[in-house]
Amino acid sequence: MLKMINIESGYEDLMVLHGVSLRVGQGEVVALLGANGAGKSTLQRTASGLISPREGRILLGGKSIGGAPAEKIASKGLAFVPEGRGLFPGMSILDNLRMGGYSRRLRGSKLSGAIEKTFELFPALKDRLGDRAGNLSGGQQQMLAIAKALVGSPDILLLDEPSTGLAPLLVAEVFEKIKQLKASGMTILLAEQNVQQALEVADRAYVLENGRIVLEGPSSVVMESEDVKRAYLGI
Ligand code: ATP
Repeated sequence: MLKMINIESGYEDLMVLHGVSLRVGQGEVVALLGANGAGKSTLQRTASGLISPREGRILLGGKSIGGAPAEKIASKGLAFVPEGRGLFPGMSILDNLRMGGYSRRLRGSKLSGAIEKTFELFPALKDRLGDRAGNLSGGQQQMLAIAKALVGSPDILLLDEPSTGLAPLLVAEVFEKIKQLKASGMTILLAEQNVQQALEVADRAYVLENGRIVLEGPSSVVMESEDVKRAYLGI
């Protein structure tokens, strides 16, 4: 579904990613792990077109998207939920969900049908459609951000640290939703610092360190790595 090949990317004179290659197959959940500043967000921003890669190729469903603008990539089925969630805090929950259909040009009954469908996974949103998004708790905002991304029926969902800043109970709830999305067949690239829980839901994982992939493999193998245990799992 998504292939990144030898990506070099960064900001003005700061190169962050140094020759990163990664793939996410259809229906897979792939974890992207690494410490603060390792480059997880930069990788997701590059895949979603918010930053243009300096080198390398990016393929979505086999077609080249490297260097394409973010709106174009979103319209081709890649949805990115950034850290900080990318909501419009002054707008209602319903209007935020409507914005989620924009990239796919959804209108009328198609848009309302797509919004209705997100209530299967996020029923709590349905009772609060008129509330301002900014008034929701952190956990509810994260759920809304994912629901908003789902309105466009993406082929792949990029989640940037969805559990950050949430209390443990809400973290568990976010991971439960990710499990349900996986069960529904959604393809997900999940950047996380919550390594244990990310590996429990993911099929495979990549570990980024200073902009380079230092380890990749099935989650069970990555979880058993002595380096991962020491650096991220405190074992
Ligand atoms: P975090 O958990 O902190 O988000 P991360 O693994 O996602 O970590 P990135 O956010 O990709 O890491 O940051 C990688 C490097 O790029 C860091 O050195 C960071 O300071 C730098 N960086 C991130 N965003 C920008 C920006 N907009 N402009 C310049 N440098 C940036």
